[in-house]
Amino acid sequence: MDEITKILHIDGNEEEQRNKIEQIMCQILLKHVTDLIYVMKVESGPIFSYLFMNEMAINQTKVSPTYLGKTLQAALDKSLATHLQHHYEFVVKHKDTHTFQDKVTLPNGEEIYGESILTPIIDEHNQVKYIVSITRDISKSVLEKQRLLESEQRYKSLVDQNLDAVLSVDENGVILNVNESTCSLIGWDTIDLVDSLIFSIFHAHEKTAFELIFAETLKGFPQEKIGLSIHHKNGNEIIGHVKTIPIVIDNRVVGIYLIVKDITDQQKLDEMLKFMAFHDHLTGLPNRSSLRENLMKSIKSAKEKNEKVALMYIDLDRFKFLNDSLGHNMGDVLLKDVAIRLSNIEDDVYSVYRQGGDEFIVLLKSASRVKATTYATRILEEISRPFILDGEEYYISGSLGISLFPNDGEDIETLIKCADTALYRVKERGRGHFQFYSKDMHAGSSYAMTLETGLRTAIERNELQLYFQPQIDLNTRQTTSFEALLRWNHPTLGFVSPGEFIPIAEETGIIISIGEWVIKEVCERMREWNSQNYQPVTIAVNLSPKQFLQANILEVIQSEMERNGIQPSTLEFEITEGSMQDSKEALDVLNRLKEVGVGIAVDDFGTGFSSLSHLQHFPIDTLKIDQSFVREVLSDKKNAAITTTIIHLAQSLGLTVTAEGIETKEQLVFFEKMKCDKAQGFYFSKPLPEKEMIDRYFKRKTV
Ligand code: C2E
Ligand code: MG
Ligand code: MG
Repeated sequence: MDEITKILHIDGNEEEQRNKIEQIMCQILLKHVTDLIYVMKVESGPIFSYLFMNEMAINQTKVSPTYLGKTLQAALDKSLATHLQHHYEFVVKHKDTHTFQDKVTLPNGEEIYGESILTPIIDEHNQVKYIVSITRDISKSVLEKQRLLESEQRYKSLVDQNLDAVLSVDENGVILNVNESTCSLIGWDTIDLVDSLIFSIFHAHEKTAFELIFAETLKGFPQEKIGLSIHHKNGNEIIGHVKTIPIVIDNRVVGIYLIVKDITDQQKLDEMLKFMAFHDHLTGLPNRSSLRENLMKSIKSAKEKNEKVALMYIDLDRFKFLNDSLGHNMGDVLLKDVAIRLSNIEDDVYSVYRQGGDEFIVLLKSASRVKATTYATRILEEISRPFILDGEEYYISGSLGISLFPNDGEDIETLIKCADTALYRVKERGRGHFQFYSKDMHAGSSYAMTLETGLRTAIERNELQLYFQPQIDLNTRQTTSFEALLRWNHPTLGFVSPGEFIPIAEETGIIISIGEWVIKEVCERMREWNSQNYQPVTIAVNLSPKQFLQANILEVIQSEMERNGIQPSTLEFEITEGSMQDSKEALDVLNRLKEVGVGIAVDDFGTGFSSLSHLQHFPIDTLKIDQSFVREVLSDKKNAAITTTIIHLAQSLGLTVTAEGIETKEQLVFFEKMKCDKAQGFYFSKPLPEKEMIDRYFKRKTV
């Protein structure tokens, strides 16, 4: 039996018994309570001395029973005594309960967090005589609070440190909180944004789209939308990639987090690139790609409506002569003027495209022979009116060939070929007029046909040759890489530009054998240079789309490399954006090429359809910026801005950037400033025959 409870057996009257019971209860409480209890006597000074302490206080702290009667200063070390003195004095002064928290070191060295409640006992003269101190171990709740605080800070960092804008809103769309990035993204300060409605930051025409996302998120489903336009304070429009995340508390959606990434630059660039891919840079007219798209659509609708489509192939007579004698700038002005005149002929069924060089194509929907005749006459009249160039009047004429759908052909290639054949006839017969295609025109006599026939025997007749154009490393100023460019010397036509014969080779499939010849020739030349002890150089080889997707292209490359002992790192293949349209197949070939170890470059970047974000998925090493951009960086601010963005984005994707077609010092300076890696162009050198390249650029290995 417990010592304390024995007292109950002592007799006495009821009141005495009750007092005893109270005493016992008090002792039981004091014994078992886990709080530390001290009673301090207060004397003038004030001086505080220990009057009582419970077992817990004795066991748990450094305070020992010998302290009873001692002052704080006598019992404790100086700093603790001062600390407690301060709190006790506070109670004496205010004559009221006082609570404070502090760290208590236990005899075993463990530190706990304590919360102490000091209660004064006041005598009849309103003097504090005693102070009862009860200290409770609150370590658990303090640590819990700290953990919560830390976890809150962790989540807060996710918001505060995020480079994307992060906003939290309640279920009504009222903005509760925004991070710094939000303010820099949309220009408004936190104070302007908080308490306003989230819907107002979106452009009016996006409101419904956003409201829909908002409603779905409130149902508990995170949402994502690319391309929402947002107002900037300065009136500009920002394109955002918006993600919404429901904020769920106790299984209830109480609000939404919005994460907004600024994709304005990328989106604008993609739109620009798309526009440029479908338009001719010089004249602004829709280009060949655009023609293909529209012709395809026109044919489809003509089939449905049982109508005809006319395709008119226009060529300016003697343009080359004018261009050569007046200079390229004047030639460009003339082409622009022609484009304006042709596009001034307005009609719903009429559309005009630049095919390339001095060639234009007109499409006429709902056509007939009579209608086509009227338009052809009008077009030729427009062209034959005098042009004023540099204050002088110049006269040119146009030749025009017409093919009709479905009479002459049912597909794009055939229709273009027929119109070209008719045009060729016009040229043969003295230019300046037009003619419809007819079956009796000997197709074989068209220029394209002549080229096609010639190409079939070009390899065996040894008419092909490789030229090499140096690529300058702008960091080191060294030239250790060259692009192999094909040259064809036709027995009667003379030199034919690859720009002319490659498309025909591609269309007719002859490109496969020509391409193999190029790869073989390059590898053989490289082996030869190696045996001559020249320092190794890298050679870039162009692969046209058909060649790139040819089934055995990898075998050809690999076997030629092995046969000639070529290091894969010294070969680079240039493919065009067009080759990558069938993404899956292209990705497969590119990955296999990468495995072989050769470099991969995207040629003529900016003229195709791909966006940089699309390219991200391909294992590409180099981006070659097309000449058309290079030509216009200095004259056209818009072009310069696009080019700059392309370079920056490409670099951020870790790609090497090559500028093609550098012709002037100024262009070079621009690209050097942009930290472009390599440059190629007439400013450094035209494509050279092998011997000249060796003489000018090759160095022998030192032993
Ligand atoms: P590309 O691959 O973009 O080659 C660059 C073209 O730009 C070359 O024309 C080159 O002579 C020309 N060029 C270089 N620097 C300048 C400059 O400063 N100003 C101007 N105005 N032009 C410059 P090229 O040799 O006539 O080749 C035209 C295109 O034919 C090539 O464009 C390429 O797409 C194709 N091609 C050439 N050789 C081959 C080949 O072996 N295989 C395939 N598939 N295509 C080839
Ligand atoms: Mg190239
Ligand atoms: Mg190129």
